[in-house]
Amino acid sequence: MKIHEFQARHLLVQAGIPVPKSTMVESVEDARAAAAALIEGGSQLIVVKAQVHAGGRGKAGFVRVVKSVEEVVAAATFMLSNRMVSPQTPPEGLAVSRLLVADAVDIAREFYAAVLVDRARRTNTLIASAEGGVEIERVAETNPEAIIKLAIDPLVGLQPFQARGVALALGFKGKALGQAVSVLTKLCALQRTTDASLVEVNPLVLTPPRPDHPDGQVMAIDAKFSFDDNALFRHSEIAAMHDPAEENPAEIRAQEFGLSYVALDGNIGCLVNGAGLAMSTMDIIKLHGGEPANFLDVGGSATEEAVTEAFRIILSDGRVQGVLVNIFGGIMQCDRIARAIVSAAQTIGFSVPLVVRLEGTNVDQAREVLDAARSQIPSMQSATDLRDAAAKIVAAVAAHAPASV
Ligand code: GDP
Ligand code: MG
Repeated sequence: MKIHEFQARHLLVQAGIPVPKSTMVESVEDARAAAAALIEGGSQLIVVKAQVHAGGRGKAGFVRVVKSVEEVVAAATFMLSNRMVSPQTPPEGLAVSRLLVADAVDIAREFYAAVLVDRARRTNTLIASAEGGVEIERVAETNPEAIIKLAIDPLVGLQPFQARGVALALGFKGKALGQAVSVLTKLCALQRTTDASLVEVNPLVLTPPRPDHPDGQVMAIDAKFSFDDNALFRHSEIAAMHDPAEENPAEIRAQEFGLSYVALDGNIGCLVNGAGLAMSTMDIIKLHGGEPANFLDVGGSATEEAVTEAFRIILSDGRVQGVLVNIFGGIMQCDRIARAIVSAAQTIGFSVPLVVRLEGTNVDQAREVLDAARSQIPSMQSATDLRDAAAKIVAAVAAHAPASV
């Protein structure tokens, strides 16, 4: 589960990490009031930031650093009435309904700091770089030596000497060194206590020297968290931060019916039972030159209604130009799938090619159900095995939807 930046900032503040003052607002009028209050409190610069579950906001024009209430109003009006498109959003972009109006700080340097579960190394890992502000993937490609990676001991956590070593390597000096050590240590502790799979602060900034902070001040001005869904049961405060508006609506509907569905970019919808079989089905579609439109595991105990709903979800994706059903009936009975296919044909209709491969429990009854309904589903073909199924659906999609010129 992901959360918004304004929620992430709240967690950082609770952990004692310095974060500039901010208010989350949902209207232009509230943005105006928040900006006026910040200026009243002494802010010289204000940053307006769209709150969506995607990065790249700065380059997309959805992070604006401005000086006056009028400019805050203009930025808020723009962000609340346009969809944000960045490399991290779907092509149609994301609607913005919330903004963060924050005190903007002067920046001397931007750093990158993150703590994540590194599956390859099997440890929680601290990642830091003095090349912050930009995408870390770009730094990793062009200047990999600029990225520090440090495995965190699962028993003792980040040790003071390690935090100091990383802060020194990033170039922190004087009083700012101690502040950086404190921030890195608190980030590591926060990742562990919240069961986060990722805590990312980009940028972590050093402000220019001022009389009250002669070596500058270390502050987090952006934050991103991803949590392990399986641990949310022990973090009710974090679970309550869930924002369903940020999720794919089809994925939410699938969850309500107990289906595991993940939308992908291709054009061949898949309906499969079992996660492993669903993965192999996607692989074999690709092997035959096709692209899966989704991952969908209906599980072993889905009802006919849930499977019919699965077809509804697949067919409501405008990109789907063909559907492959691949069922190996163990606990799942093939005839239940067959009846769901017939029901989907009657209530939704298959206007795109459908290839069905069924094996296992009650397969003979299933074939009878499908044979009886064949005239109602002219776009349906049967397949003998997985390879045959993949070849047939890829060929049928190519024939049904010739490449556009
Ligand atoms: P992202 O693009 O979605 O990661 O959004 P960020 O919050 O990281 O902001 C993008 C960029 O906007 C930062 O790297 C900064 O350069 C700039 N920015 C954001 N907040 C401030 C601020 O408080 N002061 C200044 N001077 N620049 C800021
Ligand atoms: Mg950022």
